[in-house]
Amino acid sequence: MAKLKLATVWLGGCSGCHMSFLDLDEWLFELAHQVDLVYSPFMDAKQYPQEVDVALVEGAIANTDHWEMIHQVRDCTQYLIAFGDCAVTGNVTALRNLLGTAEGVLERSYINLADLVPQIPAEEAIVPPLLDWVKPVHTVVPVDLYLPGCPPSPSRIKFVLEALLQGKRPQLEGRDQIKFG
Ligand code: SF4
Repeated sequence: MAKLKLATVWLGGCSGCHMSFLDLDEWLFELAHQVDLVYSPFMDAKQYPQEVDVALVEGAIANTDHWEMIHQVRDCTQYLIAFGDCAVTGNVTALRNLLGTAEGVLERSYINLADLVPQIPAEEAIVPPLLDWVKPVHTVVPVDLYLPGCPPSPSRIKFVLEALLQGKRPQLEGRDQIKFG
């Protein structure tokens, strides 16, 4: 039987959700026998593959690279999981929305609060422009499952992956599985 093709994607997040994935510890060896990891910050894949069964997407959509990437992920993925509170609601990444547009945020961070050389970082094709408004994943593309938590605990991640490996749609229920934070 073909192995499930799994991807993990890191957008506007702190990587804490991916760290929680690594905290699955020895279960990762079992997982490795059951899936093909086809794209992830854990490996050196440059291009998102054409046909992915399941993608865990960490982080909100905060810049133009994220915007492009999430559309590519959606187009090529059967089952897309908003992985962690930043992906589900915007969470920490979206705090800058309180300061208004990207221009206002950059001014405040790099000009007003600069100690030495006030300048806004900009380099075409290297520094992706910020979007004016940080967005949770489901407001940009359809999401198949919300996996909340900051980060989601390893047990929650395991529950979801085990269900998918058994061909079931994961049903997250109760405080242990759907509590934010
Ligand atoms: S949900 Fe929490 S742990 Fe995950 S990327 Fe956002 S801030 Fe980091």
